[in-house]
Amino acid sequence: MTKKPSGKSERQRVYWLHDAVQQYPQLEEKLTCDVIIVGGGITGTSAAYWMRKAGANVVILEEELLASGASGRNGGFLLTGTVEHYARAVALIGREKSRRLWDFTNKNIQLMKAFIGDTKIDCNLDPCGSLHAAITPEEARELQESAALMLADGFKVEYREAADLAEISDSKIYQGGLFTTEDAGCHPARLVAGIGEQAHAAGAKIFENTPVTELVYNDFDSVTVKTPKGQVSGFLVLLSTNAYSQLIDDFFQDKILPVRGHALVTSPIPKKLWNEVIYANFGYEYFRQLPDGRVLMGGMRESVPGGDAQHFNELPDERVTTKLIDYLHENFHTTRGCSIDYEWAGLMGFSRDGIPMLGSIPGKHNIFAAGGYTGHGMGFGFSMGRLAAQVMLDGENADMDLFSLRRLVK
Ligand SMILES: Cc1cc2nc3c(=O)[nH]c(=O)nc-3n(C[C@H](O)[C@H](O)[C@H](O)COP(=O)(O)OP(=O)(O)OC[C@H]3O[C@@H](n4cnc5c(N)ncnc54)[C@H](O)[C@@H]3O)c2cc1C
Repeated sequence: MTKKPSGKSERQRVYWLHDAVQQYPQLEEKLTCDVIIVGGGITGTSAAYWMRKAGANVVILEEELLASGASGRNGGFLLTGTVEHYARAVALIGREKSRRLWDFTNKNIQLMKAFIGDTKIDCNLDPCGSLHAAITPEEARELQESAALMLADGFKVEYREAADLAEISDSKIYQGGLFTTEDAGCHPARLVAGIGEQAHAAGAKIFENTPVTELVYNDFDSVTVKTPKGQVSGFLVLLSTNAYSQLIDDFFQDKILPVRGHALVTSPIPKKLWNEVIYANFGYEYFRQLPDGRVLMGGMRESVPGGDAQHFNELPDERVTTKLIDYLHENFHTTRGCSIDYEWAGLMGFSRDGIPMLGSIPGKHNIFAAGGYTGHGMGFGFSMGRLAAQVMLDGENADMDLFSLRRLVK
C-alpha cells in the first residue's frame, strides 16, 4: 500500500481547510466492530452516520483529517446530475437511466437540505440554484435540448438565451444557459465535519491521522485493518477512499482514476457578481461568489498539457493556476484588483463511464467500495453513503443497479 502525499502546510493553501484542526484521536489500540470505514470524506462520514442509525458498530479510519481529501478541496457545488449534460447522458446511457441518475442526485440535494436544516450544521448552505453556461453555440444547443428533456422528465429547469446572460460576464462569452433551481452551494469541509459530528454523536468511533496500511483477511469472513499504531477487526469494510482507492487495492487501477482538479479564491469583492453557482464549458470552468464576497474559480485542468495528470500529486500546477487567473481577469473585470488568497489542487476519482460505483470487490465479498464520482461527489456522496449502509447491512437496494461495480469488471 502506497502512502498518499499531503500534509498540513499544503492544507493551509485550501480556503476551506486553512484552519482545520484535528478533532479525533489517532488509533492506538486494537478494536473490533461491525463495519470499518476507510476514508473520512463525504462518503465515509455519511455511511458511518446511516450505519449507526441502523444499529451497526462503526469505526472510521482517516489518514489525515476528515474532509482533507477531495471533500474539503472542491467548489462546494451541490449539482443535480453527472458530469454530462442531460441530453448527452440520454444519448450515451438512455433516457430511463439518465432520469434515474438525475432523480438520485436531485433527491440527494433535498435530503442534504433537510439534514442540514434538522442538525443545524453551519456550512453556509445557499439554495441559490445553478447555471450551466455554454461557451459555444453547439453547447448551447445541447443545453437547450437538455432543458426540454429534463422538463419533460419532471425536473425544475429553465433555459435562457445568450441575451439573458449578458450581465454575467464583462466579455459576454456565454451563449445560453440552463438554470436548475434546486441546486445549491455550501462550505464543503464544514459540511463533512458536521456529518462526522452527527455520526460521532450517534456512536461512531472516528480516528484521524490514522492511515490504513494493510487489510488482512481472517477466518470466519472477518477482516483486520492495520494502521501504524493500532488495528480494527470487523465483518465488513467500506473503502470510501475514491481517488486513492487504487493505493489500497489494485482492483481499482483501471476503475477509479485519480484526476487532479484546481481551484483558487480571491480577496473579497463588495459587489454581488452572481446569484447562482456557475458551471461553464461542460464544467471545465466553474465559479461562484462566496458569502464573504470572495470569488472561487476552479477548473481549466485541460488548458495545459498534463494539467490534470493522473498521479497522486495534490500540489497545484502553477500553469493551471495562471490560466484560472487569466480567465477571471478577462471575463470579470471587477476581479482584476483582487489578490489571489488561496490556490490549491485535489484529486477527483473518475470512473470509465462517468457514473459512480458501489459494490463489493469480486472475490472479496465483505470489502465494499463507493466512489468514482467523476468530479460530482458532493452531488452524490451523502446519498451514496446512505445507499452503502443499506446495501451492506440489508442486502440489495432498488438503486443498486445504477451503480453496480460489476459493470466495470471485464
Ligand atoms: C478541485 C475540485 C473541485 C471539485 N468540485 C466539486 C464540486 O463543486 N461539486 C461536486 O459535486 N464535486 C466536486 N469535486 C469532486 C468531489 O470533491 C469528490 O467527488 C468528493 O469529495 C468525493 O468524496 P469522497 O468522500 O468519496 O472522497 P474524498 O473526499 O477524497 O475522501 C477520501 C478520504 O480517504 C482518505 N484516505 C485515502 N487513503 C487512505 C488510507 N490508506 N487510510 C485512511 N484514509 C485514507 C483521504 O485522506 C480522504 O480524506 C471536486 C473535486 C476537486 C478536486
